[in-house]
Amino acid sequence: MNGGQVSYVTTSWDDGHPLDMRLAEVLAKSGVTGTIYVPLSYPPMPRLSDAELRELARAGFEIGSHTMSHPRLDQVSEQRCRQELVDSKHALEDILGSAVTSLCYPCGKFNARARRLVRESGYAVGRTTVSYRTGLQFDPMAMPVAYQLRDHSGAVHARHAIREGNWRGFAAWIRCGCASEATALASKLFARARKSGGIYHLWGHSWEIEEAGLWPKLAAILAEIARQPDVRYVTNGQLAALVRPAP
Ligand SMILES: [Zn+2]
Repeated sequence: MNGGQVSYVTTSWDDGHPLDMRLAEVLAKSGVTGTIYVPLSYPPMPRLSDAELRELARAGFEIGSHTMSHPRLDQVSEQRCRQELVDSKHALEDILGSAVTSLCYPCGKFNARARRLVRESGYAVGRTTVSYRTGLQFDPMAMPVAYQLRDHSGAVHARHAIREGNWRGFAAWIRCGCASEATALASKLFARARKSGGIYHLWGHSWEIEEAGLWPKLAAILAEIARQPDVRYVTNGQLAALVRPAP
C-alpha cells in the first residue's frame, strides 16, 4: 500500500530507430506513454521517417531532440553545442508543427555548460542516464532515470553509478538487493517509486531490445507497471511540468 499517494510512470527511448514504431504500439496497448528522442542527422542509425514522427505524436508520445548528429555535448565547442541544440529543435518543430521542449544528452554525457545551453535554447527538460533514481524532486536540466531496459551484470551497474558520481542512485541500487536481471530490478525500482509516491522512469533503445531479445521482458515489465491505481502515465515533458523542480 502507498497510502493513496500518486506516483508517476514515464518512459523514454533514444536514437529514433524505426523499431520505435513497434515499441510505441506495445507501450500504447498497456496505456504507458513516454518520450522518443530522435537525432535528425546521425547516419550510423536508420531513423523514423518524418511521417512516422507525426504519427507517434498523434498517438500521444512526446517527440524530443537527441541533437542533430549525436555528439557528446561535454566534448564539443560551445558554438557547436548550441547549434546542435537549436538546429534540431527547429527542424523537429518544422516536421511536427508543434513545440519541442525535451532534449536527451547523447550518450548521457553532460556538464554545467551543456545544461546551461539546453536551458538557453528553450528546452524544459534535459534527460540524462543518471540511474536508480525514483525521487519526485529533480533538476529538469538533468532529469534522472530509474533504469535502462538491458541485462547488465551487477559489476556494470556498480561501475556505471560510480563513474557518474551517482552515490544516491548507487545506494538505492544496493537497497534493491544489487539486482541485475532486468525484470527483477525493474520490479524493485517500481516498488520503490510506488512506496514513496515517486517516479518510475524506464528508458532504453528499441534497436537494443531487438538485438538482445528483450521484447518478452518488456512485456513482463509492462504487465506489472500498467494500469495501476494512483499511478499517472506521462511523457518526460508532462512529468517535468507536474513535479516540483529541485531547489
Ligand atoms: Zn543516443
